[in-house]
Amino acid sequence: MRVFNIVGARPNFIKIAPILRAMKDVSEFEAVLVHTGQHYDRVMSGLLFEQLDIPIPHHCLNVGSGTHARQTAEVMTRLEDLMLEDRPDLVLVVGDVNSTLAAALTGAKLGIRIAHVEAGLRSFDMSMPEEINRLLVDRISEFLFVSEPSGMENLQNEGLRENQHAVLVGNVMIDSLAACLPAIKATNAAARLGLSGKKYAAVTVHRPSNVDTEETLLQVLSVLEETCEVFHVVLPIHPRTRANLERFGLLSRIMALPRFHMTQPLGYFEFLNLVSHASCVLTDSGGLQEETTWLGIPCITLRENTERPITISEGTNVLTGLSINKIRRALQTAQAFDRAAYQPPKLWDGHAAERIVNALVQD
Ligand code: UDP
Repeated sequence: MRVFNIVGARPNFIKIAPILRAMKDVSEFEAVLVHTGQHYDRVMSGLLFEQLDIPIPHHCLNVGSGTHARQTAEVMTRLEDLMLEDRPDLVLVVGDVNSTLAAALTGAKLGIRIAHVEAGLRSFDMSMPEEINRLLVDRISEFLFVSEPSGMENLQNEGLRENQHAVLVGNVMIDSLAACLPAIKATNAAARLGLSGKKYAAVTVHRPSNVDTEETLLQVLSVLEETCEVFHVVLPIHPRTRANLERFGLLSRIMALPRFHMTQPLGYFEFLNLVSHASCVLTDSGGLQEETTWLGIPCITLRENTERPITISEGTNVLTGLSINKIRRALQTAQAFDRAAYQPPKLWDGHAAERIVNALVQD
């Protein structure tokens, strides 16, 4: 079976790594890796490929940044040529970025079977570009690989066609984290950032709803001020967030905060080392809600909703949006968190990718 594995953005690289490894062990698979180029620079792409031991892509589409429509259209146009030339039996897409949607649409219209990894997740918030991508990709995928029970429920509620197979396989992002744990432990990111022995919060923020307007960026600034009252704060800054802070003239105000440290986006090992020694994480990332749940680190999610509810019901996550009162309470709770008494969700055992590959082989 010739499989086109499509990646485009940072979270995709982390999810595809264990799947490629699992495919390598099974003779039925001929895995082709296609990088759309949605994220392309060293800190968002190259370094992760090295650390996660992802092979050099067979094809790079170099689409680069752009508006949603342009980016999606560019990926579709370039992928269609590639798929017509080299007809794969299956297109495997991961997550919810524009490349995920573009590849699924292109493949489905050429009559190629689609497998979606991380299917069924729903925030029920149609203002999120990712929610639109998730819904559409799930409708046109034949194989729906699901990471948590809520995803199975959502797919059942929406209705599955006869030829659609939904399987609860667990979480490939956690496969990567479990596999890389020794390398993650071997780095010492906190020391390199001058945070040794200090209690700190690790922060990431990049969702358009938080960083695309001056109004919300000022609220983010207040969140950081509040957090700096309790902990040191380290912010590996996403390129989108940095660009918007510069655009609204807010970068110097953030840099002037006391006990505040800003860095470039970190490598995967360094970032998770930083997270695993943090007192808490504040984030609007999807994947990081899951990683903190697995690591047993309190996570304060700067969003009003989550498509990953297991991180709340069984994990360490709490939703606060940008409400200062809720964040103040969550910071207090984080200080009292007892990691020794904590157990992560059961199916997140580091073997999701094997279950995906087995399900594809058996079909
Ligand atoms: N991450 C990283 N370096 C950083 C920040 C995040 O390697 O400086 C990793 C993080 O551990 C997680 C992934 O990037 O695995 C999340 O990516 P992102 O927040 O861009 O996407 P989302 O999860 O929101 O889709």
